[in-house]
Amino acid sequence: MLLGDPITSHFRLQEDQKKALTRLGIKTIRDILYYFPVRYTNVSEIKLIRDLAAGDTATIYGRISNLKTRKAFKSKIPMGEAEIEDSSGTISVIWFNQAYMAKMVHEGDSVELSGKVSEGKHGLFLSNPELKEKNSLPIDTHGSLFGKDSGEVFGFPIYRETRGITSRFIYHTMQKIIKEGLVKTIPEYIPQDILKKYNLPTIGTALVWMHSPMTENDASVARKRFSFEEVFFIQLARKIERENYLQNKSFPVVDDPADIADFVGRFPFKQTEGQEKAIRTMLEDMSKPHPMARLLEGDVGSGKTAVAATLAYGAIKTRPPKTPQAFGRPSATADGLAKATFGNLQVAYMAPTEILATQHFENFIQYFKHTGISVGLITGSGCRKFPTKVASAQTPWTNISRAQLLKWVANGEIPILIGTHALIQKSVVFKHLALAIIDEQHRFGTMQRKKLVSKEGFAPHLLSMTATPIPRTLALTIYGDLDLSILDQMPAGRKPIITEIILPTNRDKVYDCIKTEMKNGRQLYVICPRIDEPDPEKEGAVQARSVTAEADHLRKVFPGYSVGILHSKMTPAKKDEVMEDFSSHRIDILCATSVVEVGVNVPNATMIIIEGAERFGLAQLHQLRGRVIRSNHQAYCYLFAESKSAKTADRLKAIKTAKNGFELSELDLALRGAGELGGTKQWGITDLGMEAIKNIKMVEAARAEATAIVAKDPNLTAYPLMKELVESKKLETHFE
Ligand code: ADP
Ligand code: MG
Repeated sequence: MLLGDPITSHFRLQEDQKKALTRLGIKTIRDILYYFPVRYTNVSEIKLIRDLAAGDTATIYGRISNLKTRKAFKSKIPMGEAEIEDSSGTISVIWFNQAYMAKMVHEGDSVELSGKVSEGKHGLFLSNPELKEKNSLPIDTHGSLFGKDSGEVFGFPIYRETRGITSRFIYHTMQKIIKEGLVKTIPEYIPQDILKKYNLPTIGTALVWMHSPMTENDASVARKRFSFEEVFFIQLARKIERENYLQNKSFPVVDDPADIADFVGRFPFKQTEGQEKAIRTMLEDMSKPHPMARLLEGDVGSGKTAVAATLAYGAIKTRPPKTPQAFGRPSATADGLAKATFGNLQVAYMAPTEILATQHFENFIQYFKHTGISVGLITGSGCRKFPTKVASAQTPWTNISRAQLLKWVANGEIPILIGTHALIQKSVVFKHLALAIIDEQHRFGTMQRKKLVSKEGFAPHLLSMTATPIPRTLALTIYGDLDLSILDQMPAGRKPIITEIILPTNRDKVYDCIKTEMKNGRQLYVICPRIDEPDPEKEGAVQARSVTAEADHLRKVFPGYSVGILHSKMTPAKKDEVMEDFSSHRIDILCATSVVEVGVNVPNATMIIIEGAERFGLAQLHQLRGRVIRSNHQAYCYLFAESKSAKTADRLKAIKTAKNGFELSELDLALRGAGELGGTKQWGITDLGMEAIKNIKMVEAARAEATAIVAKDPNLTAYPLMKELVESKKLETHFE
């Protein structure tokens, strides 16, 4: 047996088992070894035989005897039988269809059995219990670190099941693999000194302890190693990406403080301290001949766009190096207005959706209209250019052909291009791209970055911006390739959103208040936890409100108003259409799932109801609430709770008191289980990895070690095994 062997070459599997394994992404022996238990049956769950009742699922610990195998009287199915005795009594054990189980232990062995208590003709019996034989449990020689066998058997690992595969199947497969001894031969890939420093077990030991812990401590030490490992490898990969990106040349941006002050001085507001500092730091970053790589984090409305516009201004005022002062004028300039910056450095600004790209385009027109420079917009549905000779009050821009736009971008006549992903297609060529701004993107991976590097080897300074509030430990990990700037204050004078936690009995009163605002022409978001189908996992429990059912309900509550729906299963075009309708007030009420989370701006929508608020994380609620922050009118957020419990209300109250999204994301991390944070879905971090994220010391250790290694050996030449792993993990993220 080798680690790379397909499981099918060592285990006979049924079709549905094969399918299930594929679904879990498990192909090889190695893969299954890294399929970790989600929990262990706990010693405290061990029951006394005397206390068992039919229907219980129980773990008992005792001496086994009367082992035999036979065929069932009528059905002829093979069965294994035994009795187990503890200090309180004796109970029979039957393994239907698993006669071999009775041969896996010896008379008188001490064992742990876990399974269901059933009632038959002859009384209670344990049916098909898991068996764990105490004497044969693997004992590791490193045990001395944590105290040798304490004499107490820790529980069975419990694995996440999926259709076709049981936890039990995985457990047995794992035990067979471990018995092969293969695990002990796996070469360690984390440097020994790091393991020593943080008291982490070696890979072989950790795998055995993960799947067959003797004690709770074994299990937790093994988990600690793997969660450290996950974060460490993400950090390594990010640091290497960073090093590679920094190897590129960039166009240095000339920092002209007086000119910048003039630009900022035109804002219809005074910049916040945070904005000023971010601008200063980044202008300095960008004055270097190698690229900046920075993340600007700030709540919705904290003024990131203004920061981005200022940096863009700095770039487009700079002439590329070695360009003669008297740069030749083109024969056909774009409306003759672009002369001021023609041939200067350029800026690309990328947004995740067309709606957002269009909004940025309109914002930038406001920020740049006094400069006389051109701004272009490119999306899947067309291209625009500002300014235009045929401007009207509604549209200061004009539609132009893609070919024309691309031409003006390629010759440097359009210095600022805003767009969706269309912006990094091959056909889009800049003359002197100096700054790339990426808005609301969780991560801008290696592949996308490569596309930004020019043929001549120039890479733009990179500014990522996000309003997704995440804890510091998580940011340090997933954005390990970026320097962080944070806008943690809101501009002064913003009216705070009035936020209320509404218990089920007070719904109607709220609807009345909302009706008054709607009569004044305001619009409403209603967020529901589900789209439509009932949640099979929550059978019997109170079902969360769904978008489709709630939309019907709202039509009755608010007669005469139009209700639209929006959720993730709609096509992008349909979503855009609905957003457009809402934005232009053809729809009064938008009933949606949390898809509206990301940066959409409808200033007239001043109210938001969040149904089943306790089902959302605090940071997510905060972000949803951010939808109604953009108006001069008073904004309201109603958190509709399903339960009346004081605990629910207590958690939700944090929304009213926390200063910003970061604080709430830290609270989420502290209050919720790692698994509830959705790490896998959003950031590609497993639940185990999220355990490390909860531990600032561990994250800092992983970061320090990764940084030190990459600083001295950026190509991991001295660490071939680590290098291989980093490469394989990088491949995985490319498929995101
Ligand atoms: P973000 O992109 O961070 O969500 P924006 O840059 O779009 O935020 O700013 C939100 C709103 O606040 C915009 O209308 C903008 O003009 C305004 N704004 C930005 N900075 C300030 C400030 N320092 N003081 C007052 N208003 C500001
Ligand atoms: Mg924004």
